[in-house]
Amino acid sequence: MNPATLLTELRHLLGQDQVMTEGDLSAWEQDWRKRWRGKALAVVRPGNTAEVAQVLQACARHGATLVPQGGNTGLVGGGVPDASGTQVLLSLARMNRVRAVDRANLTLTVEAGCVLQAVQQAAADADLLFPLSLAAEGSCTIGGNLATNAGGTQVLRFGNARDLCLGLEVVTAAGEVWDGLTGLRKDNTGYDLRDLFIGSEGTLGVITAATLKLFPRPAASVTALASCASLAQCLALLGLAQAQLGAGLTGFEVMNQFSLSLVRRHFSQLAQPLAPAPWTVLLEYASADDEATARNRFEAMLEAALYQGVVADTALAGSLAQSAALWHLREAIPLAQSEEGLNVKHDIALPVSAIPDFCARTDAALEAAFPGIRLVNFGHLGDGNLHYNVQGPTGVETSEFLATHEPAINRLVYDAVQACGGSFSAEHGVGQLKRDELAERKSPVALGLMRAIKQALDPQGRLNPGRVL
Ligand code: FAD
Ligand code: ZN
Repeated sequence: MNPATLLTELRHLLGQDQVMTEGDLSAWEQDWRKRWRGKALAVVRPGNTAEVAQVLQACARHGATLVPQGGNTGLVGGGVPDASGTQVLLSLARMNRVRAVDRANLTLTVEAGCVLQAVQQAAADADLLFPLSLAAEGSCTIGGNLATNAGGTQVLRFGNARDLCLGLEVVTAAGEVWDGLTGLRKDNTGYDLRDLFIGSEGTLGVITAATLKLFPRPAASVTALASCASLAQCLALLGLAQAQLGAGLTGFEVMNQFSLSLVRRHFSQLAQPLAPAPWTVLLEYASADDEATARNRFEAMLEAALYQGVVADTALAGSLAQSAALWHLREAIPLAQSEEGLNVKHDIALPVSAIPDFCARTDAALEAAFPGIRLVNFGHLGDGNLHYNVQGPTGVETSEFLATHEPAINRLVYDAVQACGGSFSAEHGVGQLKRDELAERKSPVALGLMRAIKQALDPQGRLNPGRVL
């Protein structure tokens, strides 16, 4: 590769300003958690699909590798360049147009660099709902959400990003454009290319646009907190809520006492309406009924839970602002945690039924092996997905704790997850953080099939090398 000629060619294609090599590029070269810092050959910002295709063709001609990036909020180090100074950082951020809304078909077509919040807003402007929702929604892009098959807080009712996508436009490693922007709900014409690219973390192609599913907006939505004495009680509450509210139960998030204590410490302005309890549950119910009917039904369910001794206390939001405040508490946990210092994150999936036993055994094993560790355990219990994070003991230097103990902590947790038939990555992906886990824990047959797909779609290994596989 001759970097100087590639840069000249890229500047000729996109214009001087869209090929950045000078100044502070840390917004692109460093990840959100500040765990990985790389050095790009250049940060390249195409403005449309044809330009993306030309960039990929130029990189292919010059033998350069590429790292696609959206909002750079990923948590597994998949969207930042390595330290070699040879990788082109391809930012999709300028591709943020809404291309089409089809109200009758309940679809929305947007470019990959659209920020998730803008996608939600475009749906709301058409009086419809795009339900994907996560704490990074003000910065993450729909391209990144699809590339990581993001989950978030509405999966219980609406599924992951994959379930919300009908069609894609993708630029291949060779720089060809695949126009798969269909809004069809049924299309059995061969292999599903869309599902190959979703969740591929920028290793198989560059997503440039997507056609997304929309839904009618609920007439009413009610939110509450409930405190539980144990995870078994949280599960009993989940069962009760599902039985009484059916598909109307859109959110069911759990937070352990320590995670909310971190929010209290670092975001003391956020009111916590319930007294500290071993577990606090955030429930959301959305309904096509009017507000009063929806509230009555939700309150009846909470009363039954109190009566049965499943919950100790509840706090029902009385307004949209109060409901947003309850969600803020939940969303502040990852932020409070990074204020507290570096930690070992685990984004694990388990059969919901296995969770109480898993936590009881794994908490005890961790505490025995690493005395004083603090567990920030929270997440999407309704989906069987926990953010089971380990913070070092108070007073111990965090980077030193991580350097010494991270591999052993991961082994202990992931072995326990595997023994329960769970997954070491529920919604964040593999990136570089969990590449070795994938190599170690996936079956040889699965790994062989994945490598065959990579080889077929990106034979020269141009796209995000060293990530996932
Ligand atoms: P980036 O970080 O830019 O990239 C992520 C990966 O996708 C990289 O491998 C990159 O190469 C690839 N990529 C990006 N754009 C494209 C594209 N157009 N084509 C091909 N590949 C591409 N995730 C959840 O699932 N649920 C949560 O609840 C959740 N909460 C979060 C809360 C916080 C505070 C933060 C910081 C993150 C959270 N995440 C969550 C992580 C989540 O994966 C990202 O927020 C989001 O999905 C990534 O979007 P992005 O645009 O920032 O992608
Ligand atoms: Zn999550």
